[in-house]
Amino acid sequence: MKFKYSLDKAIQWRNADPAEIYDQQVALLRSHLQQAGRAPFYKDMFKAIGLLPNDITSLEDIKTLPLTTRSDIQKDPAAFQAVSPLSIADIALTSGTTGNSIPVPYSRRDLVRLAFNETMGYWGTGTRPGDCFLLCVTLDRCFIAGLAYYSGLVRLGASAIRSGPGQPARQWELIRQLKPNGLVGVPSFLLKLANWGMEHDISPAEAGIKTIVTIGEPVRKADHTLTALGMALEDIWGAQIFTSYGATELETAFCECQESCGGHIHPEMMITEIIDDNGNPLPPGHHGEVVVTPLGVEGFPLVRFRTGDISRIHSEPCDCGWQTSRLGAIEGRLAQRLKFRGTTLYPEMIFHALHELPQVQAAYIEARSSFELSDEISVVIGTDEPLDENTVGEFVQAHLRVLPEIIIKPKNEVLAYMEQGGGRKLKKFFDLRKENAL
Ligand SMILES: [Zn+2]
Repeated sequence: MKFKYSLDKAIQWRNADPAEIYDQQVALLRSHLQQAGRAPFYKDMFKAIGLLPNDITSLEDIKTLPLTTRSDIQKDPAAFQAVSPLSIADIALTSGTTGNSIPVPYSRRDLVRLAFNETMGYWGTGTRPGDCFLLCVTLDRCFIAGLAYYSGLVRLGASAIRSGPGQPARQWELIRQLKPNGLVGVPSFLLKLANWGMEHDISPAEAGIKTIVTIGEPVRKADHTLTALGMALEDIWGAQIFTSYGATELETAFCECQESCGGHIHPEMMITEIIDDNGNPLPPGHHGEVVVTPLGVEGFPLVRFRTGDISRIHSEPCDCGWQTSRLGAIEGRLAQRLKFRGTTLYPEMIFHALHELPQVQAAYIEARSSFELSDEISVVIGTDEPLDENTVGEFVQAHLRVLPEIIIKPKNEVLAYMEQGGGRKLKKFFDLRKENAL
């Protein structure tokens, strides 16, 4: 079975009887597994476990299949390709922040699917034909996200200005000239852009931007409230903020609707699970690792892919009218999970708290192994303003109920330390724990 990627069809699905959607999802899953079975990795896997895709009769059956990890793919990416080279239209590369980059081949139909996925995301944000977005994201260099945002807008009947990242002066010139009413970009850059405007007597709130779709950095917490960065963006631009989440390997993205309560799980595009540390599926509301099986992918059809990201599924009906479950905010990376005095926390939770202290001008976290299944955590803050360790300690403890070591240093010293590694971004988390130390 193949889904017809049209907006009308998708909206019809949103209002259909859940039992009918369920049956069609089972059919889509069977087709997806048939396609996956054309890739050498899954061909061998299905043979080893005796799986015949036609034996799949319920969505529950997916839980009997083995999980696929990023390292499975890194060992031999070509073993996951399920179409001939003649069918490939685009080859994306994963950003490779946690290892080597993986090439992900897209067929022509995969590109249509990618655009459709993003069209549904924009539709949920209230974007309609005639709207215009400034895309402050990378469209080249083998990144897929920028292409997805672009083709989704075009397919919806809206328009896109392919501005790319950086160069605030040029971005403001485009905003002045072309009057977009939406922005897509990385939150910290969009804040920088707004601040640049203010420094040059331009009022971002009067620029006419009503919708901001963010990628790459969290702007919402597990309880759906905006982080300090998200709130700053909302205030300064006077626009509604939407988070989106995706993974290049999955060719699939989740975007919030106007109710801001998680990214909708589009039933024709993906099956999403949350698992515990032993790989057991968890019920809605429980946090754990996000596992996704995209549906309908031809070129690189993954099955139960472990993303390494931590979140939870919200299954209560959404006030927007779509009866589909949502994936909540990304709460952290599994590999960065910290055990601290009986509590589990992620570096992002500490940064969310620090963002609310205006004196904090830079910050990183160091984790070291300690005894009794606990990590030692040092939070190193850079500032040139008056700030003492006790004030920060009390603030962090009030937010997280635990008190890690707080060290305060001059801003430039901390920034210089964070620049090591030479990546595109400042390094914020230094994992010196024995099992994770590189
Ligand atoms: Zn909704």
